Amino acid sequence: MLAMKWIRTHAEEVQAAADGKKIKVDIAVLIQRDDERKALLQQTEEARRLRNTLSAEIGKLMQSGEPEQAEKMRAQVKQLNEQLEQKEAELALIQEEVTRLQWLVPNIVSPDTPVGLSDEDNVELRRVGEPPEFDYVAKDHVELGEMHALIDIPRGVKIGGTRSYVLKGAGLLLHRAVQQLALDLLLKHGFTPLEVPLMVREDALVNTGFFPTGRDQVYELQGQNKWLVGTSEVPLVSYYADEVIDVKEPFKLAAVSTCFRSEVGSGGRDVRGLYRVHQFAKVEQVILCAPDAVESERMLQEITGHAEELLQQLELPYRVVAVCTGDMSQKTYKQYDIETWMPSRGAYGETHSSSNLHDFQARRSNIRCLDEQGKLVYCHTLNNTAVASPRILIPLLENHQQADGSIHIPKALRPYMGGVERLILP
Ligand code: AMP
Repeated sequence: MLAMKWIRTHAEEVQAAADGKKIKVDIAVLIQRDDERKALLQQTEEARRLRNTLSAEIGKLMQSGEPEQAEKMRAQVKQLNEQLEQKEAELALIQEEVTRLQWLVPNIVSPDTPVGLSDEDNVELRRVGEPPEFDYVAKDHVELGEMHALIDIPRGVKIGGTRSYVLKGAGLLLHRAVQQLALDLLLKHGFTPLEVPLMVREDALVNTGFFPTGRDQVYELQGQNKWLVGTSEVPLVSYYADEVIDVKEPFKLAAVSTCFRSEVGSGGRDVRGLYRVHQFAKVEQVILCAPDAVESERMLQEITGHAEELLQQLELPYRVVAVCTGDMSQKTYKQYDIETWMPSRGAYGETHSSSNLHDFQARRSNIRCLDEQGKLVYCHTLNNTAVASPRILIPLLENHQQADGSIHIPKALRPYMGGVERLILP
């Protein structure tokens, strides 16, 4: 959330960010409602003060034997009380409206964020590795998964409905191997691993910026007042909610978790295979650091670098894109996506998303630190995927398939796969 004072002085910039992110909020209306709220608050406080003075006066009049005067004043107090009740109700309503509008206000975007309407306007920054050229008819991950008995989509759908799957045998081992490789990589880079709640309270989702705008993307546990997270970013950031932390050195947190997504609005998109599913696993990196734009930009490059390091270890070709305004979420200040080459798509597909949120989440979550002058300020937060599986199995299986139907296992994964160098057709 942006501070109301800041929104007032940067109204144009904030409105432009909302328009760019396609978020329907009118900043002028928000400011106007906030003005009304302030005026009403002032009137209420004045009426309360007057009532208290008159009440004290009544006591004095009674003591000095002036009951008639006291009676008159009592009638005045009664009238004031009625007015106050009405004003307090109005104030509660307007306060609710201001808060609702304020929750919708997006983060501003970095000056180097490309302006655009959708992911088609994202700007490629670099390509690493060469997509393979096959001199035979290459198979997609679904066919490869069936041939090697790694993936069973029909039975997954039988159990879990659309966008479900079963991984089995070496399919499951690969799924776990990429996660362990990613976690080990983060440990090497000084991350603290956490096992976190995946059923969370509403506050955690509001404060990390997933509610109110993404409410329909999250599964609610009926009657529990809890939701299943779509990413462990929610509990990792919320871990320090309402705390003052010492981030002289950035806090680096990692979690391996299941993620649940309703994918409402995805319609008939990506229905084949493992690309867009309701349940998947993600190794997530979260950083909390001092609110210094240079420091958090450095962290953004660092966490993006970790994901790139992993893809290089998996021997996969990828590209990094700067995400444009229209493809950004409400909370993001600056974002890179990493897209890995997926032969069946004949294109790069998103596998990682790296974001700097500046103090947007920390403000909502009330995570603070001391600045150099000893003043309490809100931290900066960042996050990036280290690996998300089974989506990563798509490029892994498809890029590493061989003419004889076998699948090459990258060297870095072999220690997690019992030393297996390739999957041979059964
Ligand atoms: P996000 O947390 O939305 O930035 O997504 C991070 C990564 O999780 C994406 O780059 C994908 O690799 C993966 N992912 C997100 N949504 C899905 C989904 N519905 N099915 C499979 N993988 C997903």
